[in-house]
Amino acid sequence: MPDTPAALICAARGVPFNGANPAAWNLGIASTALGDWTTARHAWVAYGLDKFRAEAGPIDVDCGMAPVRLNPDQPSLPHQVLFSAGNTEVVWCWRRSPAHAVIASVPLPDSGHRCRDVVLHDGEPKGTRQLDGQDVSVFDELGRLEESGLPTWQAQVVGATANDFQELSDLLEQRGLGLDDWSGIRLMCSECSHGAQQDGHDHIPAASDDGKRLGLAGRESDLDEVIAPWLSGRHGIDVLNLDLLW
Ligand SMILES: [Zn+2]
Repeated sequence: MPDTPAALICAARGVPFNGANPAAWNLGIASTALGDWTTARHAWVAYGLDKFRAEAGPIDVDCGMAPVRLNPDQPSLPHQVLFSAGNTEVVWCWRRSPAHAVIASVPLPDSGHRCRDVVLHDGEPKGTRQLDGQDVSVFDELGRLEESGLPTWQAQVVGATANDFQELSDLLEQRGLGLDDWSGIRLMCSECSHGAQQDGHDHIPAASDDGKRLGLAGRESDLDEVIAPWLSGRHGIDVLNLDLLW
């Protein structure tokens, strides 16, 4: 796939499309990159996605959750210039159209991305991850459309059960804040990440005796307003450190 919106538009417009034509998808990506929602709607309808026909204005449709590979390390096409703001990381996102998504996870700072950044992504599956027992496709990031500016924090929490963490996660999400269990992050090699599981590569997260390492996203006062009452109703839980990372 060409690497700039302009190149994408030229590639797409050089080919007449109707029905499920890859050029229609490329045009959808290119016009989403430019915020040209009218053209994006035409493109998705031309591809056969009729649900984008009805409304006008920016596309913001619940298209489910998908993993997106931030800063992808392998190009889709020769000569493609990859988008990179840091280290490669696969994060969960809320898809809001076929080509753009909001980051739901709390990315590691090394990725150069934050929770609730809006990213443009490719439509070609590049590996899979599990969601509720189902395989879902991973899509490569093509660029960042919006930076959320939501600060990223790290906390060490001891004495909390899985239920405690789930309740905290739900409370934070209701407030537009983020939580991720960074203890559970699997640092995979590129081959395994793209779906070609290598022999003897388990990539099991490192075990830890000192509780869980959480990634949190939000302003400090907003996080406090959720975490303080969550802590006060529970005995034996300690938040050992809450460090602003960036
Ligand atoms: Zn591996």
